[in-house]
Amino acid sequence: MIRITTIFTCLLLVTSSLFAQKLNKEEKKLVSIVDQNMTEAIDFLEKIVNINSGTNNLEGVKEVGNVFKLELDALGFETKWIDMPPEMKRAGHLFAEREGNKGKRILLMGHLDTVFEPTGNSQGFIIMDTIAYGPGASDMKGGDMILLFALKALHQANLLKNTQLIVSYHGDEEMAGTPISISRKDIELAAKRSDIALSFEGATGFGFATVARRGASHWTLTVTGNQAHSSAIFRPEVGAGAIYESARILHRFYDELQEVNLTYSPGIIAGGTIVEEKDNEFILSGKSNIVPNKTVISEEQKENTRAKMREIVSENLPGTTAEIVFEDSYPAMQLTEGNMNLLNTLSQISIDLGQGEVKAWDPGKRGAGDISFIAKYVDGLDGLGAMGNGAHSPEEYVYLNTLDEQIKRTALLIYRLTRER
Ligand SMILES: [Zn+2]
Repeated sequence: MIRITTIFTCLLLVTSSLFAQKLNKEEKKLVSIVDQNMTEAIDFLEKIVNINSGTNNLEGVKEVGNVFKLELDALGFETKWIDMPPEMKRAGHLFAEREGNKGKRILLMGHLDTVFEPTGNSQGFIIMDTIAYGPGASDMKGGDMILLFALKALHQANLLKNTQLIVSYHGDEEMAGTPISISRKDIELAAKRSDIALSFEGATGFGFATVARRGASHWTLTVTGNQAHSSAIFRPEVGAGAIYESARILHRFYDELQEVNLTYSPGIIAGGTIVEEKDNEFILSGKSNIVPNKTVISEEQKENTRAKMREIVSENLPGTTAEIVFEDSYPAMQLTEGNMNLLNTLSQISIDLGQGEVKAWDPGKRGAGDISFIAKYVDGLDGLGAMGNGAHSPEEYVYLNTLDEQIKRTALLIYRLTRER
C-alpha cells in the first residue's frame, strides 16, 4: 500500500516539473499574477456587462469606454477618446498607446458596443454555476476584459517596459459607422504602425483561433420588364416580365456560383408593378392579372463571384433588362503564412501552459469582423476572446472557468511577441 502511494507521488512530481520547465521565470510570475487577479477580473466583467452599450446608446458606449480608459491610464498607456462626426451617430473609439522598441509592435483590438439597446429586457449579469449570462458577455466584453487583465498582469510583472502596443476599443463594431473611410480610419493608421494585430472577438472553441475570415458585401439586383395585361405575356412585344427574369437569374446564381467558403443569400425580394425601396422597406403595388414590370433583390455575397453574376444577369429573357449593383462593406481576412506562424506561437504557449494545442478555425464558419479592415497591413489572429455561446441573443453567456487560462495565454503571447525580433 505504501509503495503504491510513493510511486504515484513521484509521477505527479515528474509531470509538474516537465510543465514548469517550459515557462521561464517571468512567465511563471505572469501565471501566478493572473491567478491572483481572477476575482477582480470577474467583478470587472460584471461591472462592464451591467452598463448597457448598444451601438445606438452613445452615452453607454462612452461610459464603458471610460472604465477602460481609467484602467489603461493606470497601466501607463497614453489614452484618447476619438469622436465621430455627429451625423454618423456613433459614440467613437477608445485608443491607448505605449511607446517602445522592444520586439514586435502589436495592435490589440476589442469593441465596446453590443447589439443590445437599452429598450431590450435584459436581466444584466447573472452567474449560474460556471457560466454568466449577460448582454455582450462573450461578444465581446469577455474578450475586452481578457485583453485588459493580460495587460494588467504584464504591468504588475514589470514586463511592459519599452514595448510598443496600441489598444483599440471600437464603439461601433456591431454596426460600423459610415462612411467606413472615417469610422475605420484610426484603426488603419494604427495597423500601419504595427507588425501584428490580435483581436479578442469571442473564441470559437478553447483549442481554436481565427486565421482567416470571410468578407461581406451587398448586392442589389433590379429587373425591369414591360407592364401589360397578363394574357399578353410571352408575346414578342411584351416578353417574359420582371418576375420570370428574376427567377431565371436567381436560379442560375443558385446552380452555378456555389463554392467553398462563399455564401450569397438573397435577403429581400419584392416584385410587382411599382417597387420603391427605402432603408430595406418596399412600397409595392401589383395585381395577379398583370405582367410585373419590376423586382428588386438585395443581400450579401463575396468579391470573386461578381463577374459571373454580371454575366448571368446580362443574358436577359425577352422584353426584360436587369442590372446588378455591388456595394463593399467588409473585405476578407486572407489566410497568410504570417497568420499561421502567429497561430503556431500561440499554440506553443498553450502547450507550454499545459492547455493543449491551438488549431485554425474553419474560415467558412467565421463571418466578417473588424480585423478584416486591417488584415492586409499586419499578421493577425482573431477569436482570442472569451468562450461562450448565444452571441446576439438574449441567452448570451460566457464560460467563467476558462477565462483565467485565456488571460494567461494572452499575457504570454504579448510577452513572447514583444521579445521577438
Ligand atoms: Zn463582436
